Amino acid sequence: MKERHGKLKTYGKGSRICTRCGGFGSVIQKYRLMICRQCFREVATKIGFRKFE
Ligand SMILES: [Zn+2]
Repeated sequence: MKERHGKLKTYGKGSRICTRCGGFGSVIQKYRLMICRQCFREVATKIGFRKFE
């Protein structure tokens, strides 16, 4: 399920940035997704993960 895109950039340790849309904010680091809540909802739905509360 893990996909790595060439667009991903490293902003240093501790930097919280969505690896999906590249936006800053409430990035969820659970499950090593490193994506914001909005993206998480979308991704979670796609991968069949519904426990995202
Ligand atoms: Zn995002």
